[in-house]
Amino acid sequence: MAVVVQKYGGSSVADATSIKRVAQRIVATKKAGHDVVVVVSAMGDTTDELLDLAEQVSPLPPGRELDMLLTSGERISMALLAMAIANLGLESRSFTGSQAGVITNSAHGNARIIDVTPGRIQSAIDEGAIPIVAGFQGVSQDSKDITTLGRGGSDTTAVALAAALTADVCEIYTDVDGVFTADPRIVPTARNIPRISYEEMMEMAASGAKILHLRCVEYARRYGVPIHVRSSFSVKEGTWVVGSLATAETTNEGNEMEQPIISGVAHDRSEAKITVVGVPDKVGEAAAIFTALADAEINIDMIVQNVSAASTGRTDISFTLPANDGQTAMNTLNKLQEKLGFDSLRYNDQVGKVSLIGAGMRSHPGVSARFFDAIAGAGVNIEMISTSEIRISVVVGMDQVDEAVAAAHRAFDLDSDQVEAVVYGGTGR
Ligand code: ASP
Ligand code: MG
Repeated sequence: MAVVVQKYGGSSVADATSIKRVAQRIVATKKAGHDVVVVVSAMGDTTDELLDLAEQVSPLPPGRELDMLLTSGERISMALLAMAIANLGLESRSFTGSQAGVITNSAHGNARIIDVTPGRIQSAIDEGAIPIVAGFQGVSQDSKDITTLGRGGSDTTAVALAAALTADVCEIYTDVDGVFTADPRIVPTARNIPRISYEEMMEMAASGAKILHLRCVEYARRYGVPIHVRSSFSVKEGTWVVGSLATAETTNEGNEMEQPIISGVAHDRSEAKITVVGVPDKVGEAAAIFTALADAEINIDMIVQNVSAASTGRTDISFTLPANDGQTAMNTLNKLQEKLGFDSLRYNDQVGKVSLIGAGMRSHPGVSARFFDAIAGAGVNIEMISTSEIRISVVVGMDQVDEAVAAAHRAFDLDSDQVEAVVYGGTGR
């Protein structure tokens, strides 16, 4: 008998029929003898619809009220799911994030979990009931107001609960059969990845793979929670996210040889690029630029600074950031122009990032060469490059992302000879 946390995403509970199907799956797990705790997302595109609604009444809704509104989406699905389970003859109780003991800081819209005290969940389990927890939400320790964890945050709720309950596994049910070597919507011959390390999955998530929330993988790694990503529409094995590279190297050397060099290719169309043109080549300029952006709470991704031109003593600094923050960043930098003495600012949101991820690149030479060669072969120009130990990313034109992804996927022999991926639901929104 195991303790299993199951998280069902919005597309798995999109309507009454889906909710009844999911209820059956939960009941089957319980009847197999396991203790099940369920975390649900809002039905289908409910969260987006609520956001649209908020925008119609106010261009800048107060964070507290927006969180109050958005958390209602998950309350709808949790109650309906508990009813559907009750209808199958088992006892089920729904809980808000607050009732489930998810304690956060007070950053509305992007709150961080600081503690999980799942007393009521544990009692429900002990009494033989199936607890259903609303994902993506908690309660602020200081203000006692309701908070949300950021878009896609139900994954993080599930892993945090799994850690607090010392569950054996956290199953994340979605609308595709696990993690693939590329987005099957772009590369139909993408392959299922049966097993991937936390670090590689973190790089995939940070590079735009939408299958898992980055913070949920970070959390799982910290607490050693095995994640099992599967489709709620099929019984395929899906993907296990387990094992850290750090421990694999010291304890599991033999296995490393069987791991493919590259795990997959991820892409991200949500970023923009800003170039600060003609920055004077003197001490403290980069510090001033990035301090101002940090003070504006903007996350910077890649940064490139060129060698300054000998004739002018000036250089260009380019960086990427979430396109959503583009306007704020431009306003922030515009105010600094006089003080810092740069020439101008350029903004481009017609860019995309393509990333190659794989632990094997640490020990195999020539990976970047093969990657750049593949992209060149597709006739795609590279605008920026950045790397980590297990990732190489390039920025390319937005309309060339698909070609670059497909070319890289092919160059590393990741294509399957059959179409493995089925996209069962969701609008990809
Ligand atoms: N319903 C929330 C969202 O759409 C949280 C989640 O689905 O994980 O972002
Ligand atoms: Mg959702």
